[in-house]
Amino acid sequence: MRILISGAGIAGPTLAWWLLHYGFTPTLVESAPALKTGGYVIDFWGAGFDVADRMGLLPEIRRRGYIVEEVRAVDDSGQRAAAVSAKGFVRMTGGRFVSLPRGELAAILFSSIEHRVETLFGDRIARIDPTSDDVQVRFEHASPRTFDLVIGADGLHSGVRRLVFGEDSRFEKYLGYKAAAFTVSGYQPREELVYLLYTQVGSQVARFSMRDDRTMFLFTFADPDPSLPAAIADQKSLLRDRFRNARWEVPRILAALDDCTELYFDRVSQIRMDGRPGLWTENRVSLLGDAASCVSLLAGQGSALAMVAAYLLAGELSQASGDYGLAFARYQERFAPFVRKKQQAALRFAGMFAPRSKLALYLRNRGMSLMNISWIADFAMRRDLVDKIDLPHYPARAFR
Ligand SMILES: Cc1cc2nc3c(=O)[nH]c(=O)nc-3n(C[C@H](O)[C@H](O)[C@H](O)COP(=O)(O)OP(=O)(O)OC[C@H]3O[C@@H](n4cnc5c(N)ncnc54)[C@H](O)[C@@H]3O)c2cc1C
Repeated sequence: MRILISGAGIAGPTLAWWLLHYGFTPTLVESAPALKTGGYVIDFWGAGFDVADRMGLLPEIRRRGYIVEEVRAVDDSGQRAAAVSAKGFVRMTGGRFVSLPRGELAAILFSSIEHRVETLFGDRIARIDPTSDDVQVRFEHASPRTFDLVIGADGLHSGVRRLVFGEDSRFEKYLGYKAAAFTVSGYQPREELVYLLYTQVGSQVARFSMRDDRTMFLFTFADPDPSLPAAIADQKSLLRDRFRNARWEVPRILAALDDCTELYFDRVSQIRMDGRPGLWTENRVSLLGDAASCVSLLAGQGSALAMVAAYLLAGELSQASGDYGLAFARYQERFAPFVRKKQQAALRFAGMFAPRSKLALYLRNRGMSLMNISWIADFAMRRDLVDKIDLPHYPARAFR
């Protein structure tokens, strides 16, 4: 069975890995000219961590990751306003928790399939025509091809979703925030293994020092206007304008922004296709990861969830011996209720990134400090940190 996967981010390569494992023939198409590296730092734990374990990738993920020791909020002059030790996370996850740049996770996943899966970089699907026997696909650059299935794993602004399911506006729920991230070399000062937060009403700047003298910055800010500037120069201007009165190290960070050539800048949104008959599936086409059910950065778990979804989809395709209708239905039955709860939980964390008032900011900082008391941390985190989803052990028989 020939399966075209659009998007070589997190979900796409994970799906390709498991499809190969079961004897399918995946092909990846990625719009970027080369694999995207670096970017913002993600936390990685839960059921997605278990999937990475089953793929044998944990040693490499741990080697390239960081065990953050403290999340510290600072005030205008850089003094500690609140701090929470990461011990609670480590305890709750049994040490199965690591932080790493999203691009590093993507690179680890991609190198696990790199020489085994055909990948078309710098291209995208232009047209999808399913027939009763197969799917005819036209690309922007490559010649037309025929596949048995097409999976859209192409992120929040999925091209497959737009082509087959409809305009973004039907499914994207803008949460009222924007996020921007970039990495620079040689920034001072540094704090090793401390995730620093400078939060004001309606905005936050985070700084994290990484290996090789690199530092990652993440800006989040409330903005009722969902439109995004397209050019990087305009994105930088918007950030400079929005944070012009911020104190702490923000003027220095904005100066560092001048030289950056790679800036992540996007809306904080969720993808909700709940009410749609067929949910993420239409005929021989289905969606995966952020394309299907983006939980947003507020969940702090989108990559892990994308890997879980990929694992389930591949496993169900193998179990159903090619009955894709049955497999898509089972994949959705297993994953949709779980991810819906994650989306709801994410909304409760909005106040962490951009509190709406001085009182909310004060309470956020008090809450952080209270999380150092182990019974409070365990009580507060159990509901959201423990993934209640069954990851079946699908037999590794080759698909016939
Ligand atoms: C600031 C921030 C912080 C986050 N923090 C965390 C965290 O702490 N923990 C966590 O687990 N998750 C976190 N996430 C979420 C996580 O990054 C995403 O959920 C995850 O990357 C989703 O994986 P994906 O493969 O579905 O999509 P993506 O990783 O977005 O990959 C999609 C791929 O498709 C490609 N593409 C796009 N359009 C097309 C097209 N038309 N044709 C072909 N290819 C295309 C893109 O170039 C990309 O390579 C965070 C997200 C943000 C923005």
